[in-house]
Amino acid sequence: MKKTLPEHAPMEGFAVQGNCLQVGGMSLIRLAERVGSTPFYAYDRQRITERIALLRRHLPEGILLHYAMKANPMPAVVQHLARIVDGIDIASVGEMKVALDTILAPDKISFAGPGKRSSELRCAIAAGVTINVESEQELRMIVKLGEHLGITPSVAIRINPDFELKSSGMKMGGGAKSFGIDVEQAPKLLKLLASLKLNFVGLHIFSGSQNLNSAAILEAQLKSLQLGIRLAQHMPIPMRLLNIGGGFGVPYFPGEERLDLAVIGENMQPMIRTFREQLPETFVAIELGRYMVAEAGIYVCRILERKVSRGKIFLITDGGMHHHLAASGNLGQVIRKNFPVIIGNRMQDTDKEVVSIVGPLCTPLDLLAEEMMLSKAVVGDFVVVLQSGAYGLSVSPTAFLNHPLPEEILV
Ligand SMILES: *Cc1c(COP(=O)(O)O)cnc(C)c1O
Repeated sequence: MKKTLPEHAPMEGFAVQGNCLQVGGMSLIRLAERVGSTPFYAYDRQRITERIALLRRHLPEGILLHYAMKANPMPAVVQHLARIVDGIDIASVGEMKVALDTILAPDKISFAGPGKRSSELRCAIAAGVTINVESEQELRMIVKLGEHLGITPSVAIRINPDFELKSSGMKMGGGAKSFGIDVEQAPKLLKLLASLKLNFVGLHIFSGSQNLNSAAILEAQLKSLQLGIRLAQHMPIPMRLLNIGGGFGVPYFPGEERLDLAVIGENMQPMIRTFREQLPETFVAIELGRYMVAEAGIYVCRILERKVSRGKIFLITDGGMHHHLAASGNLGQVIRKNFPVIIGNRMQDTDKEVVSIVGPLCTPLDLLAEEMMLSKAVVGDFVVVLQSGAYGLSVSPTAFLNHPLPEEILV
């Protein structure tokens, strides 16, 4: 028998009552009334909380969980996460302002990014956040600014490792990279630290993103821990923190499956035990963006028109690529595949048809679903794009064609 691919990635998680998706303990129809207009993004607080609990249950005890806020910088989401994670990783001063508004102490916030301006570094030093240093030039500038401000800056050294996170959606370490300091140059730089007026926190190793292969993740974690042990020999003072990155992915497309956290957790146990025997004073952190929030978020728009063109059915909606670039297939996808999409107010309908869902923009790139089998829908129905809690609105070209911005809510 020929095995057919599933129509979409796993998407169970939101409850269904009657014919309607439930979000944040409320029917989608009522939620849309509450928001007052479409399109909108909704993030489910409970699902975010459950995701953090799942990580804590499976990962070795004592591992610190950091939220990489570029995945979803909505202030309410960041506030919620700040209460249940151990730190926040930021990549700009704009993000720093949101992170500093939370209950987290500044020393729980770390600032990465390959091109930090001196004005940004001054803000970060004054705020007391840890700066993940990405070059020797940056390190020297931080020392100078610290002296000028009369504040001792806190720094961690970001390492570009000599390995990569295999089968990653996006590789950010290994080979020639603009991120971090090549590991070959790290010993010299670490020795230099002894003579500089700095508060040395530790190392940051981030090798990649959107990975669904637990063996590849475990291999990168092991190599990162071993690299930490190796580099510790060159440090003038013990490191307090080793951030080994994350890269945990979520399933977006047909055929993809969720990561098995139990497998990752079990295999991490002995690695962490060995690491602690070597470096008992060092905390280990992992930083995750997408994995914490992606599956807790949906994008909702409404059908404005049902058009049939030469036999092909188009549902034209009030939302599209200007709000959700990733679902349109234009955010780094080589071959376009469909995100999980549903008709949110027709969850149980058995009457189905194959449709393409497009947005209001005058470009064929404005596509939310291509030839998907969905419940037969009419004008006014709700199109819901699942797996939309990460890299949604903030990576989308909202100014393109100048349509109104969508609302964002945490429920
Ligand atoms: C983007 C980024 C992350 C988050 O990656 P996810 O795939 O969303 O988990 C973490 N750390 C650094 C340094 C990043 O640049």
